[in-house]
Amino acid sequence: MATAILRIWPDAHFAYGPPVETGFYYDLECSHRISPEDFEKIEAEMKKEIKANNTFEKLVVSRDQAIADATSGRLGGLGERPGNASKFKLDLLKQIPEGEPISYFKNGDFIDLCAGPHVMRTGNIGAFKLTSVAAAYYKGDEKGPQLQRIYGTAFKNKTALDEYFKMIEEAKRRDHRKIGAEMGLFAIDTEFVGPGMPLWLPKGTVLVEELEKLAKETEFAAGYVRVRTPHLAREKMYKTSGHLPYYADSMFPAMELHEEGKSQSEINELKKVVNDAMLQIVRDLGLRNEDLSVGDNTLEKQNEVVWTRIRQQSPEKRERIEEMAQKKFTTDMFLASFKEPDRYYLKAMNCPHHHRIFAAEPHSYRDLPLRLAEYGTCYRYEQSGELFGLMRVRSLNMNDAHIYCTEEQFADEFRAVNDMYLKYFKIFGLEKYQMRFSTHAAEGLGKKYVNEPELWKKTEDMVRKVLIESGINYVEVANEAAFYGPKIDVQVWSAIGREFTIATNQVDFAVPAKFGLTYRDKDNSNKTPLCIHRAPLGTHERFIGFLIEHYAGNFPLWLAPDQVRVITIGAEGDPASEPLIKYAKNIVNELRAQGVRADGDYGTDPMKAKIAEAEKLRVHTMLVIGGRDMEAGAVSVRLHGKGNVGAKPKAEAVADILASIKERRA
Ligand SMILES: [Zn+2]
Repeated sequence: MATAILRIWPDAHFAYGPPVETGFYYDLECSHRISPEDFEKIEAEMKKEIKANNTFEKLVVSRDQAIADATSGRLGGLGERPGNASKFKLDLLKQIPEGEPISYFKNGDFIDLCAGPHVMRTGNIGAFKLTSVAAAYYKGDEKGPQLQRIYGTAFKNKTALDEYFKMIEEAKRRDHRKIGAEMGLFAIDTEFVGPGMPLWLPKGTVLVEELEKLAKETEFAAGYVRVRTPHLAREKMYKTSGHLPYYADSMFPAMELHEEGKSQSEINELKKVVNDAMLQIVRDLGLRNEDLSVGDNTLEKQNEVVWTRIRQQSPEKRERIEEMAQKKFTTDMFLASFKEPDRYYLKAMNCPHHHRIFAAEPHSYRDLPLRLAEYGTCYRYEQSGELFGLMRVRSLNMNDAHIYCTEEQFADEFRAVNDMYLKYFKIFGLEKYQMRFSTHAAEGLGKKYVNEPELWKKTEDMVRKVLIESGINYVEVANEAAFYGPKIDVQVWSAIGREFTIATNQVDFAVPAKFGLTYRDKDNSNKTPLCIHRAPLGTHERFIGFLIEHYAGNFPLWLAPDQVRVITIGAEGDPASEPLIKYAKNIVNELRAQGVRADGDYGTDPMKAKIAEAEKLRVHTMLVIGGRDMEAGAVSVRLHGKGNVGAKPKAEAVADILASIKERRA
């Protein structure tokens, strides 16, 4: 792309140009303001380059050579450009540490600073497309020069490229904000509630509760116990966990509570006690006002003066005044403790609360593993520019649990967590997924990572072993672990092939110790448990956002907000007969009694209109009944998006619906 742009606008200067998830971009400065209308022209030049099939050749050069090439304008150019130095490249060269090798890639006439790797030759690029242009600051610095950023994407062949654009189009069609509004799932009320804090409307709440039901059943079967915790905690909690001050930027600011637990009249009373005692002391000691005006007149300084004077008194007088002074000073301290505001924070994570639940009772090795589960609500202060529908929010409900276990139990517990993930993937029909296993790096020990080299090695080995044994598709990335232990991010691909990170799974061998959590072991010694943090269904917000795209809003029966609608057919323009309406209502009642979200449409609209209405609402199953169905004790079953699937005896249709919900069929 750079070659093509230089052929058209030789004065262009290139800055950064990395590959990104969806393709690539290159930042450049150019006298011409590039717009999407120019793409065709640039792409035509690019096609010529691809046809020329030039090789990408790696050259290692000395620093002096590189500086000379940048000064002459050769670097990031097609040839020398005297008096027109490659300024960004000169700056980038400065950032390469002394002694580090400097490499170029040469492709045709174009030479650029680049560490590679590349395709072998331009001819390997099967298909590409420029996608957009945007403004960007050099190095992201608002004070730096403003550049033009051109985005593009490339694929092995035309089919793959077409598929990619089809996927992008489909993702737009399935946008969770669009479908969420159509279906009435959630609302974001920026004015009254605040940005990034979704309100779950009745139909969205159905999704939330069905997911919680699934989680509760699954966790119950796996031996979890449920807990509930408040949404806030005192500052001490987050100082202990280490969230403060390191995570402070991502938390809502503190709420300050003054004089907790005391009414103003009680405080005034205490103040009066202090004042009266002080007056008495001052009188008894013969102190004058100026004796007490010491330095900045702090309470501490005054106390010093008073106590010095008391020590100078005769023994019997001293005893009497001392008693009064003691009373005054204790009350002072009591009052002072109220003046210090008590800080509370909205929780950004559930772990500290769960740790305190562990700490609330003594534990022995027999209690372990202890698996505490909660759909916990957390609050995170995301930048307003980062907020995005349900995907990036400030209030979130997490499918959280913390498993406290011994080292010996760790592998089995970790394996069970993985099995739970796989079970969920199956329910939601997620065929493609990957676990991203982040490990520590030795050089970060004691800085980025807790300084426990042996524990790191041991837990990482255990995690790796479980991943391999379970045959799970995973990649290992060094130096991306959490502060307190290795971490697994779970990536899934939606039905249309878009990637989402939905869940994390972390091992923690540091924080339980900070909270002083212990259990009594077989040998009567106190030991610190390991903790596994896991959230297979992530947060309701993100997971439902994902599911909306995954299903395009056409949820399976067990999850669908509107599960069943019974539709009566009358003669054209006439209401259905009384007995038919009764028959229909009985079916609805029978289903509702079994917990099925069913309703009926008994109106006079023609059948076609009733079906169209139900289709629009994405009602999963329609039971269409006319007089003949009633006589036969049957129903005609229609499925949303699939049409008529035939008539069935009523009892069979009801049994099918109940079984499909119970088994959470896809
Ligand atoms: Zn946690």
